[in-house]
Amino acid sequence: MKVQERISQLQSFNVPVDPPDLSSFSREDVARLRNTVERWRSEPAALLTMLLEIQEIWGYLPERGLEYVGYALQVPRVDLFAILNFYDLLYSAPPGHRVGLCMNTPCAVRGGEQTAKILRHAFERRPGLGFNLEEIPCQGCCDLAPVAVVGGSPRRLLPAAASRLAQSLVEGRLNRQPRMETGGQVHLTPTRVAYRNLHHPDAHRLETFRAHGGYTTLERVVRTSSADAVISAVTESGLLGAGGAGFPAGRKWATVRKAPGAEKFIVVNADEGEPGTFKDRPILERDPHLLIEGTALAAHAVGASQGFIYLRGEYRLARERLAAALAEAREAGFLGASVAGTSYSFDLQLRVGAGSYVAGDETAMLESLEGRPALPRVKPPFPSDHGLFGRPTLVNNVETLAAIPTILEKGPAWYHGLGRNWSPGLKVYCLSGDVARPGNYELPRGVTARELIFTYGGGLRGKKSLKAFLVGGASGGFLPPEELDIPLEIAPLRAKGVDLGSGAVVVVGAQHCLLDLARRESRFFAKESCGACDPCRLGTPALVKELERLVDPQVRSHAEARIRELGTVLHDSSRCGLGQVAANPLLSVLTHFPDEVMAHTPGRCPVGVCGRRPRKV
Ligand code: SF4
Repeated sequence: MKVQERISQLQSFNVPVDPPDLSSFSREDVARLRNTVERWRSEPAALLTMLLEIQEIWGYLPERGLEYVGYALQVPRVDLFAILNFYDLLYSAPPGHRVGLCMNTPCAVRGGEQTAKILRHAFERRPGLGFNLEEIPCQGCCDLAPVAVVGGSPRRLLPAAASRLAQSLVEGRLNRQPRMETGGQVHLTPTRVAYRNLHHPDAHRLETFRAHGGYTTLERVVRTSSADAVISAVTESGLLGAGGAGFPAGRKWATVRKAPGAEKFIVVNADEGEPGTFKDRPILERDPHLLIEGTALAAHAVGASQGFIYLRGEYRLARERLAAALAEAREAGFLGASVAGTSYSFDLQLRVGAGSYVAGDETAMLESLEGRPALPRVKPPFPSDHGLFGRPTLVNNVETLAAIPTILEKGPAWYHGLGRNWSPGLKVYCLSGDVARPGNYELPRGVTARELIFTYGGGLRGKKSLKAFLVGGASGGFLPPEELDIPLEIAPLRAKGVDLGSGAVVVVGAQHCLLDLARRESRFFAKESCGACDPCRLGTPALVKELERLVDPQVRSHAEARIRELGTVLHDSSRCGLGQVAANPLLSVLTHFPDEVMAHTPGRCPVGVCGRRPRKV
């Protein structure tokens, strides 16, 4: 290493003393940079949000701009560059004309690969135009699959429309579309617990929310109910966390309530990123006041005076609507120093993530809010004792909190009774893939897969036959048609080696290759692993490698044994949920579809997908 390089490396660990030279920027851009830094500098947990706003000035984060942030905030250069390198939505160079395509299972089964091929071919013929085709993570609108992101907005892009879009792009004819609501189809039960006013065109505005009884529960509860009474009601309702772990909400709240400390926080996990999951997006875009009311009620119960909504960076319309709704709620006295005219004080702020799947882990999210890369913490201590800035913190998912106003309005027994058999209440199931009516379905917990897919979803599209259904998204597993009568609830699914997770169900028709789909999920985890612990850092790419060996009959049994061994190691010794579930999709294929695996040989796939040689299905 040259001496000068070594010196600058050492200097990067120091807090900057002098301001950087900004003379290469225009005066307007420098003014915007300074204003943005000034606006956010005193706000806790705002570094990522600030960087994303600065990025809007140039379309990326130039080195000098980042150095100015370091100088103004007195943050070492090395820390800022670690953040820049960690998050996918922060760019160190102009990103060019980006067209993003999702390749996860819901998009793959709806023709995402053919769409990609057509666009790639069109862009390669005109390399001078600088179009970049990028594989992007699930965008949280799988009912639109296959999903492309053009000009920052997601849209459905079926293979039949791909050539037309490519032509419009290369000719510069594509108008930027206004941001559209992407939550797509939401099928409401008469109970409307998590979704209340979705079908009203102005549901996101305070006036409409109030006209439908919004904030009346908050007004009543903060005036008349003790925190203990609220926690008892939530416990009795049996409400389970809807983010994936399914932990009883009342028990979590009671732990935070009892934790010692005068200052407590609440963090809303709105970083919906599990492939196949798109249930929170419509709440955020169309019913943001419902979430704010539920969060204020939760904060009242646990004794938090400050809260943060950690929103997925890709959810741009949700960001606009949430920011407006928070301002409206503050203005109307439902947030702030005197909530609903009482002595109860609570404020809620919006913070934006910057593209990291692992940030959905609750402790990684806290790291991100504290202005660092989203690396999961070792537990214990748990966030309920030692969370944001070391204070007791309640972390709950959007769907969980959106259910609170209705539970407190209609009573815990009413809510509990909505479930089936042993399961309490309702769950929003995200149905996508080869199904006639994809969308979000709020149904009794414990509804069977058959009812969801055939009664509500209208069965398979295009007279296809069912090969499998993926439950729980990338972290879940594939089940065969013989399991259609399984209740979509935590315990019965676990008995089959599958997690309900956030409630995603992806329907897979007979024309698809399950090894190909398991390969996509395994690659996804290998890419998203943050590398903080060895089992996951080394184990996730090893899984992909062993999967490739499954097609060779000579080494298949050895590869299968290695995959099962890796699955155990990942599950038992990974630090966070990503590593713990990374082998699930592949293991489910080995367990439930051994014939499909055996039918593969090098260069041959039984349905002509991964190893070619098509065979009619
Ligand atoms: Fe990071 Fe994977 Fe370890 Fe989670 S399990 S902390 S994603 S390396």
